[in-house]
Amino acid sequence: NVPIITVDGPSGAGKGTLSAKLAFSYKWHFLDSGAIYRVLAVAALHHGIELDDQTGLSPLASGLDVTFESSDIGTRVILEGEDVTEDIRNEVIGNAASKVAAIPLVREALLRRQRSFAETPGLVADGRDMGTVVFPSAVAKIYLTASPEARAQRRFEELKAKGLDVKISRLLEDIKARDARDAGRSTAPLRAAEDAYELDSTGLSVIQVFEKAKQFIDS
Ligand code: C5P
Repeated sequence: NVPIITVDGPSGAGKGTLSAKLAFSYKWHFLDSGAIYRVLAVAALHHGIELDDQTGLSPLASGLDVTFESSDIGTRVILEGEDVTEDIRNEVIGNAASKVAAIPLVREALLRRQRSFAETPGLVADGRDMGTVVFPSAVAKIYLTASPEARAQRRFEELKAKGLDVKISRLLEDIKARDARDAGRSTAPLRAAEDAYELDSTGLSVIQVFEKAKQFIDS
């Protein structure tokens, strides 16, 4: 039984940063489950499958030819032999991912693949339903949140650093729409596991969030 730490929560709360830091500090494996949904969305677009076509998407999900190649400088995401690391990170794909993720058969089809990341010495799993559905017996579950305004602000800073100019009000709208879709879907809606430690990162630095999380995990 491989020990697993789950980090769930809404978009932009800082799950990715926290999970990567935890995985690095424990020298455990890392699962970015959102990346799998994002890759599936890209694959659907490549193959001309509509984002609500469950009969087309479910076999695509079970046979998804994706590999994560980790090295010192990060993880490359390879779909059907093609490097899609950067392609999966834009807002269009984020929204498309949340559409395919709303389909129960798709979520079912991706369960085994996600669970296969649980290898010794341990796994940090980042997503929306890691603690509730995919790894219910995880040793430590964190539910990371932040106010929609704080999440929009962070996203704004990220995009600005990349030289992109967007309106915060627009980002805030997107975040609220994505929250509503993730929380409102019938299968695995976004919510904290009963035994999760709820951590609100509004106004906290990356280091402060990491330290609070570690304190909880090591307690
Ligand atoms: O976390 P990330 O923004 O990369 O996830 C993209 C989308 O994939 C989310 O908006 C959510 O709809 C979906 N997702 C999910 N379950 C997960 C991870 C992501 O439904 N475990």
